[in-house]
Amino acid sequence: MSHIYDYFTNPSEFSVMCPKCENEALFETPSDPIEKQMPSGGLRIIRNNVHKKRIGLYKCSSCGTQGKTTISWPNDAYYKAEIKGKLFWAWNRDNVIATLSFVTSKHRDKKDYPESLKFLMHLPSHFISAKNRPDAIKKLTKLLGNSA
Ligand SMILES: [Zn+2]
Repeated sequence: MSHIYDYFTNPSEFSVMCPKCENEALFETPSDPIEKQMPSGGLRIIRNNVHKKRIGLYKCSSCGTQGKTTISWPNDAYYKAEIKGKLFWAWNRDNVIATLSFVTSKHRDKKDYPESLKFLMHLPSHFISAKNRPDAIKKLTKLLGNSA
């Protein structure tokens, strides 16, 4: 079943696992196009499948390497964890912080996280549902703790 989480335009910078040391590295690549010019002259919104390979430049502050590399999303995502049988991934640390904060908050308003609003809108309810909350809190906290 396809979900909105599978169709997501990548930001131009996000976190990946360093190909050398597996710490967090910054990856730069053009964002997917969001509109397509139609022969009729109109514009059509493109549904970009997030599961694909991307070529870009990585820069790792842990081991100091940088260069051109190909990543496969979400396999090479730095922020990823299995939560109750489904793979959670995030573009960056802020997305994880926002998700954890949202899951634990009482009033649960996605608009409280303007930086990660788009991410939270795409996130399947599986990761933020009350019944998966204990596992989500545990895994997201661990994700944040593993990063310097
Ligand atoms: Zn590295």
